[in-house]
Amino acid sequence: MEDTVLVVNCGSSSLKLALFDGAYQKLASAQAERLNQNDAFARIDGIQETVPLSPAASHHEALETLIRAFRDHKLLTSLPAAIGHRVVHGGETFREAVLIDNGIISAIEDCAGLAPLHNPVNLSGIRATLALFPDVPQTAVFDTAFHQTLPKRAFLYALPDSWYRDWGVRRYGFHGTSHGFMAVEAARLLGKTPATTSIISAHLGNGCSITAIRDGISMDTSMGLTPLEGLVMGTRSGDVDPGLVDFLASKGIAAREVHRVLNQESGLLGLSGQTNDMRSLCELADHGHEPSQTAIEVFCFRLARYIGAMMASLRDLDALVFTGGIGENSARVRRDTLDHLRIMGFELSEDLNRHHGEISDGRIESAGSRFPVLVIPTNEELVIAREASRLAGATGQD
Ligand code: AMP
Repeated sequence: MEDTVLVVNCGSSSLKLALFDGAYQKLASAQAERLNQNDAFARIDGIQETVPLSPAASHHEALETLIRAFRDHKLLTSLPAAIGHRVVHGGETFREAVLIDNGIISAIEDCAGLAPLHNPVNLSGIRATLALFPDVPQTAVFDTAFHQTLPKRAFLYALPDSWYRDWGVRRYGFHGTSHGFMAVEAARLLGKTPATTSIISAHLGNGCSITAIRDGISMDTSMGLTPLEGLVMGTRSGDVDPGLVDFLASKGIAAREVHRVLNQESGLLGLSGQTNDMRSLCELADHGHEPSQTAIEVFCFRLARYIGAMMASLRDLDALVFTGGIGENSARVRRDTLDHLRIMGFELSEDLNRHHGEISDGRIESAGSRFPVLVIPTNEELVIAREASRLAGATGQD
């Protein structure tokens, strides 16, 4: 157990832990949800009973409680060799993962204005693990880092330049850990190196984003200053006309409320009026629920438009890659999206699209398709574990 790596992922009201062995096999995972609410709860995967948390438990308490439970269940029997933290926003400061020290903590604090819901909770996870494991090297892995290669033409909004210079208003992009993993995995599946592989990576989960990766480098991506821009998502609208804010103000709806609705009550949930869950939406649509069918259509059409848009950043395309809960599991979304793009030469094999997990190595295009299309399971925890272990090794402390 000496070489275990702990991965900590603090969301706005959740905490996920994953423990890997030295060969990056997952030994255990656990999550706490509804943190800071009266019905906070936690559980370890594979263990029936929940882990008791006090009402309105904080991230700090949940972390301490779950680590104690890992120890009680003999899942963690010695100090981890390294700890990796997912940090949402690294601004323009962080182009790659870094070992955490006091200077890094204040730099992450400085980026908090750009991700007020996320960076403060990421920091509370970091502080809690530093208190529990003061001698274990800890690494921050940023969602934004992979996209720090975006050229100016892709990251600048057409806004007054001073907004960028004074306040950092620009596109940053997110899901970078997943998109970076796709670049490496797609190259491996295609028998190439990441540095010579160009893909369009569509990460479609509850949050959705798409990235153009040229020769291993992020050139354009759909999320922007915040993770609200771009594709239709579970509860997030993606792109809307910014004129909406003023229009709704004239109806008496304050900007803060518009922001809340765009983030929490829009997307698939807003369109369907039922659920943000794509699997449930597909079932509802199959039973003739028209708003759910419409929600799926808007989702797929927006995605198709963005796939087209991403082409502008590439010289050639080695593969279009689908990942995330929807991208990996919904043959219907993949089919309906690529039906819009026949003009570009994308064509799926119906059989491979439905059964790729059983009968192919993830390739789902037909023989006549102009481009390969891949389905690759994402594994952000694994990437964070590898980075944490690599940087901890570099300190010579493990
Ligand atoms: P993630 O955030 O990556 O866990 O993805 C969550 C999304 O994946 C939810 O909208 C799920 O409904 C969706 N999903 C998972 N499995 C399926 C499936 N078999 N068909 C359609 N959507 C799915």
